[in-house]
Amino acid sequence: MTHDDRPAWIQREALLLAPYAMSAAATAGRVHPEPAHSYRNPYQRDRDRIVHSSAFRRLAHTTQVFTGEMGDYHRSRLTHTLEVASIARTVARTLRLNEDLAEALALAHDMGHPPFGHAGEDVLDDCLADHGGFNHNRQGLRIVELLERRYPEFPGLNLSLEVLDGQRTRAEKSRSDSHAPAPLLECQAVDAADSVAYDAHDADDAVELGLLELGALEEIELWRQAGRRARARYAALDEPQFRRAAVHELIDLLVGDLLSMSAKRIDEADFADVDDVRVRGAGAVGLSAELAQQKAALEKLLFAQVYRHPVVVEQRTHAGDALREMFSFYAARPERLPTRLDVVATTEGAPRAAADFLAGLTDRGALEEARQLRAGG
Ligand code: MG
Repeated sequence: MTHDDRPAWIQREALLLAPYAMSAAATAGRVHPEPAHSYRNPYQRDRDRIVHSSAFRRLAHTTQVFTGEMGDYHRSRLTHTLEVASIARTVARTLRLNEDLAEALALAHDMGHPPFGHAGEDVLDDCLADHGGFNHNRQGLRIVELLERRYPEFPGLNLSLEVLDGQRTRAEKSRSDSHAPAPLLECQAVDAADSVAYDAHDADDAVELGLLELGALEEIELWRQAGRRARARYAALDEPQFRRAAVHELIDLLVGDLLSMSAKRIDEADFADVDDVRVRGAGAVGLSAELAQQKAALEKLLFAQVYRHPVVVEQRTHAGDALREMFSFYAARPERLPTRLDVVATTEGAPRAAADFLAGLTDRGALEEARQLRAGG
């Protein structure tokens, strides 16, 4: 056997990755070229840059669906992100995709969310209606390309182009055209993991918070299936134990279906390489039609009964008002913004700089900021 003197991570990739996976060895590189690292591959470095960013730490105190005032059982945006990364890695590994790339994409996927979840996003989008609007996926891209300041040589995190492309695909999904290249399978795995995670944990959180009755979930076929599996596995369960067991079964049911269907589609497509994936790979990673339909029924229930629950709506209205007031204040007085936003205020205008500032606050930070402004600070 001849001696292989390539770096260990390249040998490892050659051993583990399928031809349709995006290998770090084939990366298109970074906007600002950097020398290779001695033992981490480019996507491992991306993951580390994301984890060490301040935007990532802020996920801990930012609303996923339910605010911190509602207790400490439910998910924050950080724990949601970690659940997504965990599922995405399992999917990537099983399909012989690049687990490091999937992990980096998953950890970054929600970094652009402003405080107060979708309510905050709607308010900022409204405030910026005449200035290009606001969207959390685009904001995520702004954070990693421009707003994070960790290196003296360049703004942003200088992530690998495949990670940026993944986030860009999400940002541009709404204005997708048929000529755009298909997302890498790693990117598709993260999107699928995201929706499996939030469906399962929002159902769990909503029942725990008393916003949803277990009985309402029993109307949903997907939940009934998960429940049957939980009861078959455990002889006696009290209600909270049953719910948690059913949530685990729900994730397992969805991920199991996702894996077998994706493997089947990938097998049938017989992709030659990632370039082939970019041409023909759209929709390769995804659920079966049957489970997708059942999952949509669960989402419909969550939408109607949880995301629009009066308690949730009231919190949102309250938070939205605070955000709107702060936007008016800072858009009129950009000199009061942190100096790091001077460049944005000069080049893109005060409204965008105000939005960058506000979007970068946690729920807690935003409430404190609003309190100070109201007190005349
Ligand atoms: Mg998410």
